Amino acid sequence: MIFYSTKTSSLKASLEEAIFNSLPPDSGLYMPEHIPTVSAEFLATIEDRTFNEIAVEITYTLFGDEISRSKIEEIINGAYDFESPVFPVNQDNYVLELFHGPSMAFKDFGARFMAAIMSYFLLRSQKQINILVATSGDTGGAVAQGFYKIPGITVTILYPSGKVSDIQEKQLTTLGHNVTAIEVDGTFDDCQRLVKEAFLDPELNQRFHLASANSINIARLIPQSFYFFSAYAQLKKIGKPIVFSVPSGNFGNLSAGLLAYKMGLPVEHFVASTNLNNAVPRYLKTGSYEPAASVETISNAMDVGSPSNFVRLQRFFEDDWTLATQKLSGFFFTDEQTKNAMREIYDQSNYIMCPHTAVAYQGLQEYRKMSPSDFTGVFLATAHPAKFIDLVEETLEKPVEVPERLKSLLSIEKEAIQMNADFSEFRSLLMSSLK
Ligand SMILES: *Cc1c(COP(=O)(O)O)cnc(C)c1O
Repeated sequence: MIFYSTKTSSLKASLEEAIFNSLPPDSGLYMPEHIPTVSAEFLATIEDRTFNEIAVEITYTLFGDEISRSKIEEIINGAYDFESPVFPVNQDNYVLELFHGPSMAFKDFGARFMAAIMSYFLLRSQKQINILVATSGDTGGAVAQGFYKIPGITVTILYPSGKVSDIQEKQLTTLGHNVTAIEVDGTFDDCQRLVKEAFLDPELNQRFHLASANSINIARLIPQSFYFFSAYAQLKKIGKPIVFSVPSGNFGNLSAGLLAYKMGLPVEHFVASTNLNNAVPRYLKTGSYEPAASVETISNAMDVGSPSNFVRLQRFFEDDWTLATQKLSGFFFTDEQTKNAMREIYDQSNYIMCPHTAVAYQGLQEYRKMSPSDFTGVFLATAHPAKFIDLVEETLEKPVEVPERLKSLLSIEKEAIQMNADFSEFRSLLMSSLK
């Protein structure tokens, strides 16, 4: 598979280059030059396949020219020992639960695949790399778990002190081995700036083979298409068209849904659901794109004022706004509306949603109001509600059970290096700790 840069279409990259560069040198985004489609036979029998079998087929369709089928099976089976089940919540509405991986957020699907495929390329070339990543919450946990104990790779995670939840902090700081957590006395933006400066430092780069695990890496985006196919496989027998509502921040998740659609997945419509960080819903309404500074909300993993995958979103629709609005609707919601939706579903169906999931549920309901057609609605549950336990308990006025996987973390001592938001300090730390 060949990739091109969205800024300079003549700037091409191989799969391996796209994965290890993360961003093209002109700081566009990598997009596949050609999107192959899955076979009719695959779609006709998809309901008989497991999640991993579906993932193998999609990966083989995309990368079969470069990686053998048996290697792809190894990569997929090494990445996934968890699934994406679908459950009915109320009339025609189904939840696609994406929080059964190690960090209990959907980012595990991207991080685990990325770790497995990087490891495949590194073993082939006998290289070592050092990954740097800044996190505001869920990304760090997924990346830490994804790369934990992977040979040839170390991970350094920067997070803002006091600005991630207890559980999220423990997910970053209790693994050890090849994972190092740095607690920065500053904001998420400071963490991101430090990582950026490190990538721009030629000596650091050359000596340590720095790599990024950020969400625009194509190796995190592509595997997120697997669960759209898997949801279709689980719901196909109902026989109605399918509409997906995706709770969105940087729009990687929705871009992956569009990739699945371009590969031939029958999807009637997509709904982009956001909180008050609503640049994309506004764009879909007016045709003009006005990114803004981010505002804080209770669905904080989606507090993104200027979504990094917006360019990809446009590219999937051939940069044509009219085309985009035919396939994609956007809605946004306030915190009050989101809390009300959490209560409503809990009262109705006893189902507990995290605030991000509740945003997706509302988007689906809004779309239902304006759509004349009869469809199966699927909203994506991107995190386990216990990851946001304080908010969920306060909203529902009831205690929420914490899964063993998260509970056991709370008793482990955290291990993090404390640091000021200062590049020279960060630099000397890397110089003395990386190999
Ligand atoms: C990252 C995240 C999102 C947003 O996903 P994007 O791909 O950035 O749109 C939504 N919900 C949760 C829980 C997240 O962690």
